[in-house]
Parts: sequence; structure tokens; C-alpha cells
Amino acid sequence: MNPSYTQIRARIDTAAQAAGHTVRLLAVSKTHAAAAIRDLAAQGQLAFGENRVQEALAKQHELAGLALEWHLIGPLQSNKCREAARHFDWLQSLDREKLVEPLHRFRPADAPPLNVLIQVNVDGEASKSGCAPEAVAALARAVTAFPRLRLRGLMAIPEPHPDPAHRRAAFLRMRTLHDGLRAEHPGMDTLSMGMSDDFELAIACGATMVRIGTALFGARPAPG
Ligand SMILES: *Cc1c(COP(=O)(O)O)cnc(C)c1O
Repeated sequence: MNPSYTQIRARIDTAAQAAGHTVRLLAVSKTHAAAAIRDLAAQGQLAFGENRVQEALAKQHELAGLALEWHLIGPLQSNKCREAARHFDWLQSLDREKLVEPLHRFRPADAPPLNVLIQVNVDGEASKSGCAPEAVAALARAVTAFPRLRLRGLMAIPEPHPDPAHRRAAFLRMRTLHDGLRAEHPGMDTLSMGMSDDFELAIACGATMVRIGTALFGARPAPG
């Protein structure tokens, strides 16, 4: 039993109701043990996000009996395209065209298409991964050329700026970008943004999926 889950779900539902649209919760289980995932799954949470392929595969192996939905949310290297395409239901971190054809090629033909979100570098920070906003339209078109990939929308990790107005502006830029692309790609239905510290603001700005780790599972050990 994870007592945080009910509270977080309630906060999401309240924010979603105020915003007038539904919002999915992605539970970000990176660094946490398979047992923590099993606990949440027993409470009805079936979508989980991991940022490292090998770590995710180990947990999938341990939890093989459960029908979970796995999202890869961390940076993807070319040499991991095969595993990403075979073992995940969603890739939220597509950021360059070079990965598109290999993802299609490695996606098993008998599996449903891989759901893809384009990660956008919405703040233009040099240190962060993500596609430049100006390059998103071309990348979106590249994805839709391959039938084993299904373009579902956009993802962003805005800079954790102390000024909420700054974050809000970034979320709203994402929404504008997403809405603009939907004219050409009506299948885009997912705007993934908002984490433990700012998910209510993200929902108010149009997020349809929030990715929450710390507020559900507690603090992660410092990377070392
Ligand atoms: C770790 C992570 C999250 C969750 O962050 P919290 O602040 O722990 O909720 C969300 N999205 C991505 C891409 C992450 O890597």
C-alpha cells in the first residue's frame, strides 16, 4: 500500500477538473525497486516510467506476470534503439531524426505501434536533451512516415526555475507548440509535462500526462 498514491491521484483529479480535461499519471519508478511498482499496481496504477533501459528491463523481468505499460523517459542512445523498440510501450524522449528509422525497424511487426512523444528543449538550455522547438515539426513528420511508430505528442522537462511565472511560460509555450502541430497530426493527444513539484501548474497549462516520482515513492538516492 502506497499512501501517497491516493493523495496524488486526488490532487491530479482536482486540477484536471478545473482545467476541463482528463490527465493520466505516469509513475516514475527509476531507482526504486520492483516491489514499489508491485505495490502501486495493486492500487490500480499500471503506467510506469523509467529513464534507463537496463534498469527497466530488470524490473520488467521481475514483474513479468503483471500487465504494465512501460514508458522510456530518459535520453536514448542509438545503441539502445533495439531494446527501446522491443521492450517499451511508449518512448517519451525522442529528440532526433537519426533514431526514427531504427526504432521502426526494431519494433516487432506483431506488436502495436510504439507510442512516441517528441521531447522538446523548451528552455533552450544547452545542457539538456530535447529537440529545439523550431525542429519539432520536421521530426514529427519523420515519425509519421513509419507505420510501427505512432506519434502521440510532446514531452518537456522545463527548467526547475524558482519563479512560477517562468515555468508557466514554458508550459504555455509547449501547449502552443502541441496545439499547432495537431492541425497536421490529429492523432497527437498527449502533452507530457509536470513533475512532483509543479504538476498542478502543468495541468492548468494543458498537460494531459504528468510524470511523478518523488511525491509517490519518496526521495531518490543522490546519483553517484
Ligand atoms: C525523474 C523524472 C521525473 C520525475 O521527477 P520527480 O521530481 O521525482 O517527480 C519526471 N520526468 C523525467 C523525464 C524524469 O527523469
